[in-house]
Amino acid sequence: MTYLILIRRPFRFVIVTVLAVVALGLGGGRYLAVGSQDTGAIRHGNPNRPEVALMVNVDWGEEYLPAMLDVFDSKNVKATFFIVGRWARKNPDLLRQIAARGHEIASHGDQHKLATKLSDAELEQLISDGVSTLKDITGNQPAPLFAPPSGDADRRVVEAASKHGLKTILWTLDTVDWKKPSSAVIVRRAVERASAGALILMHPTKPTLDALPEIIDGLRRKSLEPVTVSQVMQP
Ligand SMILES: [Zn+2]
Repeated sequence: MTYLILIRRPFRFVIVTVLAVVALGLGGGRYLAVGSQDTGAIRHGNPNRPEVALMVNVDWGEEYLPAMLDVFDSKNVKATFFIVGRWARKNPDLLRQIAARGHEIASHGDQHKLATKLSDAELEQLISDGVSTLKDITGNQPAPLFAPPSGDADRRVVEAASKHGLKTILWTLDTVDWKKPSSAVIVRRAVERASAGALILMHPTKPTLDALPEIIDGLRRKSLEPVTVSQVMQP
């Protein structure tokens, strides 16, 4: 920005400040859930793999999960389920069933609380209790991934998760299915902009269940195989 040198010094400051505010505004709009663009959280898998990951965040919606599992089975797809600890304690049999049917299980926090708003001690609890609950119920260590509730993560959250060996996972494409749009809208959001390595976020809802077969078929028509988050992150 060499042209700034031509502008008198007091005005340079004003212009630089305005540019910075505009840049922050643009960044904030693109990364809605996250304060910083450089937190170390993961938003994408390996773009060299002809795959995408389907992530199902679970804090409610258990009434739709059995039928979603049937769709995954019928299409021979394994997804990653990010499970909230409090939900797991209320639905232990369903959690064991998700695991038994070969899906990847990882933590979505022990409670569905905004991680950046918690004290260090509360954040530690959110992460460690979330993982230990899943391990206690399934008998297996969950995948070393952490999807922060509401995608709320900053550098402190990412570092706290990393102390437990967990990678913090956000998403590439959000179906925003929790707002219950039509299943056609959910299919479009999941498939249209999907490209290799994308992490596609969904939840257990009725329109998501209805959309799921077409999402899987649509991705496969684009030669993108739906897999787990761990798999799409492999080199
Ligand atoms: Zn959630």
